[in-house]
Amino acid sequence: MEFGHYFKSRQGVMVNTLKELVSLESPSTDKKAVDICADFITKEFKKIGAKVTRFPQKKIGDLHVIQYPALKSKEKKEQILLLTHIDTVWPVGKIQNMPFFLSGKKIFGPGVLDMKAGLVMALYAMKTLHDLNIEPEKNIVVFINSAEEIGDEAANEIIRKLARKSEYVLCLEPSLPGGSLKVERKGRLVIRLEASGKAAHAGTPEKGINAIEELMNQLRGLKKLQKTKGTTLNIGLISGGEKANIVAEKATATLDMRFWTNMNKQRILDTFKQLEPIFPGAKIRFSIESFTPPMEKTEVSSALLSRIRDIADSALNMSIEAGKTGGGSDASITSNLGIPTIDGLGPDGEGIHADNEHLLLPSFVQRTALLTELLRQL
Ligand SMILES: [Zn+2]
Repeated sequence: MEFGHYFKSRQGVMVNTLKELVSLESPSTDKKAVDICADFITKEFKKIGAKVTRFPQKKIGDLHVIQYPALKSKEKKEQILLLTHIDTVWPVGKIQNMPFFLSGKKIFGPGVLDMKAGLVMALYAMKTLHDLNIEPEKNIVVFINSAEEIGDEAANEIIRKLARKSEYVLCLEPSLPGGSLKVERKGRLVIRLEASGKAAHAGTPEKGINAIEELMNQLRGLKKLQKTKGTTLNIGLISGGEKANIVAEKATATLDMRFWTNMNKQRILDTFKQLEPIFPGAKIRFSIESFTPPMEKTEVSSALLSRIRDIADSALNMSIEAGKTGGGSDASITSNLGIPTIDGLGPDGEGIHADNEHLLLPSFVQRTALLTELLRQL
């Protein structure tokens, strides 16, 4: 079976499923909308005999785990984990001025690329194995995150549990522009820095300690962190002081830092730990508001990439490149556990989180063929 031709002849039905999924708009923060969208896709998975387990949530949409084949008790076999998410960054109603439509080889619509197409790919790959009676090499488990765009600890915990039991993790986020897979992603630290001084009248500033000036000097010093290649620092929020005629007693800044490796992260934290007040009597302290680990290019992930390349080449005559990207995804979580992980197996396209979000239809078809081969052979 040559899956390239197989899916080319089925691209019409795949696009229809994608259209239905996109028209059920599902912003991360709208639980009701996300649940309705998830209902639609999980019903489709049930039709091919997959087992669907729902993890009810109070605030975010319910989380779902799909197992194929549905496991009989005590049956043991290795498993492969597919990471997807059903939530998007787009509010309900966005589709009015950003409709689902096909223009030439491009398909537009809110969430079409990030990443409803990935879910449709997983569905059709598994449906094909089912329809053609092909037994996959490993059990297939699909995790459908309902709040990937905002991050959620309950979801992360399920991902870690599933990953620990998996041989491989494939993440169906879109590819890099041009079709390359993603083997490296930047990590992210959000740090709040707070300076305290002493209030005094602006007429006698020598009696006070200005927290704003302390903070500004500290921030200037922190710029040196950007000397590490690829590390970026953005001072995104700043506040402090009370009135123009009072020496400021408190000032805070919130910084967003991105970096390629865990070593870079350590270097950043060390720098913060070593901060000393610049003005006598001032105080400086920091707290971590959030942390996403980087996805580093590990030996096990590189080995998985070679296998994917071989399968793509021999079964589909497809050559696969790989690269790195600044943004984070759930793949970072599994990669940090040391599980072989490859991201960007979804379709090629452009405009993630932007009004021109679209995917390229030929790559949607080819990537589904590749995914099916991988599930069959890996
Ligand atoms: Zn995404």
